[in-house]
Amino acid sequence: MPAHPLEPDRAEMAAMATAAADRVASFVEGLPAAPAAPPAGGGTGPRLTDLLRPPPERPGDLAALLAEFAAAAAPAIETAGPGYLAYVGGGGLYSSALAEFVARAFNRYSGFAAFAPGLVALEDSTLRWLVGEFGLPATGAGLLTTGGSMATLTAVVAARVDRLGDDFGAGTVYVTEFTHRSLAKAARVAGLRADQIRLVPTDADLRMDPEAAAAMIASDRAAGRRWFHVDAAYGGFFHLTGRGRTRLAGIGAADSIVLDPHKGLFLPHGTGVLLVRDGATLRHAYAADGHYLQDLAGGDDLPDYADLGPELTRDYRGLRLWLPLHLHGVGAFPAPQDEKLDLAAFAHAELAATPGLEAPWAPDLSTVAFRLRDGTADEQRALLARVNASGRVFISSTLVEGRVTLRLCIITFRTHRDRVAEAVDIVREAAVAVTAGRGTPAGTAASGPRSRRPAPPAAPPPRAQT
Ligand SMILES: *Cc1c(COP(=O)(O)O)cnc(C)c1O
Repeated sequence: MPAHPLEPDRAEMAAMATAAADRVASFVEGLPAAPAAPPAGGGTGPRLTDLLRPPPERPGDLAALLAEFAAAAAPAIETAGPGYLAYVGGGGLYSSALAEFVARAFNRYSGFAAFAPGLVALEDSTLRWLVGEFGLPATGAGLLTTGGSMATLTAVVAARVDRLGDDFGAGTVYVTEFTHRSLAKAARVAGLRADQIRLVPTDADLRMDPEAAAAMIASDRAAGRRWFHVDAAYGGFFHLTGRGRTRLAGIGAADSIVLDPHKGLFLPHGTGVLLVRDGATLRHAYAADGHYLQDLAGGDDLPDYADLGPELTRDYRGLRLWLPLHLHGVGAFPAPQDEKLDLAAFAHAELAATPGLEAPWAPDLSTVAFRLRDGTADEQRALLARVNASGRVFISSTLVEGRVTLRLCIITFRTHRDRVAEAVDIVREAAVAVTAGRGTPAGTAASGPRSRRPAPPAAPPPRAQT
């Protein structure tokens, strides 16, 4: 028996770790067959009232508690599995999860380099690598955050302080209708008014029209620099591939870049990155004095992360990036990212060639937008619901130019060709079913190898073969 219940002995620690690792291994092994989303009407998960019970006074049993956790985790959109094609997710790399366990147990404080210079050096090695990868100069610096939204907020406040000082009423943020909501949220939290956010028109490919942006900026401000921020939370890590590097050309001209290792580097949720062209802009915005911290003055060449962002106490985030990069090697990442680019091109070609569907934009990276040609909004939503009812893939929808449009985002490392081909088949079957009442159902063609037998409208969408 351990001397103290909060301090298990070596044998007990090993037994606990084995129990947890076995649970995780079973979970990961089960992912290919796991439902992509909970079945309509709920499943057979535990009752919420049971899960909401308060903690007991007496000790519990670890195996039983881990089993309860797994049961509670089951009714969920399976963000770790191969069928997750809805939003931008990463899957949850095992090596990074393991790093997290180790880092948490060591529990080093890393807000000031003096507390753990070696671990700050490890963390900073990953950030310096990214500063170089994205072509930022030697003045560049980085910060690991909990995600893209926090990295964006950290950047917006730094830009506000650096470029506008205390009087930021005339600051302006230029976005497009398709810019991620985290930007507007960050601007609001940073104290900017809604009318300080300007919508720049987009071109036919839904990209910001740079000429329109230049004209707006010129008319808003005759002189002076502007802050050039790149939100690469989704796309940034495709830079590790040749094609991605071409498509992201010019990114090194940015003042700040947001990346999300929990997307394109497949880490578990909880890790974002802010890179800035000049680390001084972060220190300018975030360094704060406190007499009670006077013993911690920085030395060496290492950053004090507490002076580069809003957090003072933080979890040690370096290992979850450092361990996978060193264990697998940087060279392990481009192949799965390239695969995602190929899969998106494949899905786009297949969907665009399907009668009754349209896929108007060839993917730049790994997101494919499509919809029923001439479909009503209700039909598009019915298509979405049918696809997701398959339980094999989970996709999402958005509005593009006012039209309900479905999208596949192919980014987790567990998604391969078989699942994307299956997704295409499921979409086709669902399109036939949704439009069966029309004269010519979508997805059917008079000839061609792709035509499929129309399904009766009420039938559940059939499972495609993998
Ligand atoms: C995910 C995402 C964000 C927000 O990042 P979180 O990590 O979810 O906070 C911002 N911009 C883009 C383009 C994203 O894909």
